[in-house]
Amino acid sequence: MINKKEILNLLTAGDEKSLFKMADDVRRQYVGDEVHLRGLIEFSNICRNNCLYCGIRKGNAKAVRYRMSEEELIKTAQNAANMGFKTIVMQSGEDLYYDTSRMCRIIETIKKFDVAVTLSIGERTYAEYKAFRNAGADRYLMRIETTDKDLYHKLDPLMSWDRRYECLMMIKELGYELGSGIMVGLPGQTIESIADDLLFLQKIGIDMAGIGPFIPHQETPLKNEKGGTLSLALRTMSVMRLMMKDINIPATTAMESLHPMGRIMALQAGANVVMPNVTEGEYRKFYELYPGKICVDEKPLQCRTCIGMKIESIGRKIGQGYGGHNGKMPIKK
Ligand code: SAH
Repeated sequence: MINKKEILNLLTAGDEKSLFKMADDVRRQYVGDEVHLRGLIEFSNICRNNCLYCGIRKGNAKAVRYRMSEEELIKTAQNAANMGFKTIVMQSGEDLYYDTSRMCRIIETIKKFDVAVTLSIGERTYAEYKAFRNAGADRYLMRIETTDKDLYHKLDPLMSWDRRYECLMMIKELGYELGSGIMVGLPGQTIESIADDLLFLQKIGIDMAGIGPFIPHQETPLKNEKGGTLSLALRTMSVMRLMMKDINIPATTAMESLHPMGRIMALQAGANVVMPNVTEGEYRKFYELYPGKICVDEKPLQCRTCIGMKIESIGRKIGQGYGGHNGKMPIKK
């Protein structure tokens, strides 16, 4: 077990190249050379929350709001499945228009395309999580964002850290594969708090976790803040790989938004998952969590082809299975 002092040391001192190499070696040994692709559908940017960092926060009156219809969402998922994606991730703002029955209908239909289904739609009730699970959802993705409760409450004024934690526990208890993660470089966040975040993710036994640099958005109260660096995000991700050797770790889109090779760098520093965007048309541009988001003008197939070539160029293979933690999946109820 790596202790907090060692984590701090790895995050701040020493040559990053050798840290990345160590994480890459652990990744190869424990999860192999396959890179699992998840087709990401950003199906609504309507949100009841007002997180200070987020471009689709309720308070951003300039955001062009959209919500896919049920048919549109299902068609997008079907296209992604036809392209060969074995996991579909449905992500949105916290939009309650997608109530239990609507969500369940969508999940049931998409499950027929022989894919694992991941939801990333924020905080719901136990009854809803249970219904989604019964409808066939396999995984749930919800970042804890930070484990510094004071910082969390400053950044997410309408939300409660304890509530978010409870949601993660409910999701786990219901037998979903649990994905979480954090942002690094948040205003007021310390390295020590990032070390605590990693210990937290380890303690709750996550199956997947993403690390993203915070990128300030012009239409939010944090517009003048500095934002996180790619280097710190990669370091944090590498240390996470050393601590949690066999979990799934995505090369995050926010990393690529800071550097044109950000995801490839991540794949060579501990990551084994990529989530290409399969959202159609203008919606991509409107799902603007942060500025400089990549691929807003591309089409799903272009993203699939582009990332496929990048992955093969570094001698890795595209995963052919569902790509669950430890090869489980889809989970049997
Ligand atoms: N409503 C869902 C999805 C949130 S958006 C939920 O609550 O889980 C997905 C992730 O984008 C967030 O969890 C957050 O970590 C990240 N994000 C939001 N704003 C960001 C910003 N300005 N810079 C970097 N990442 C951001």
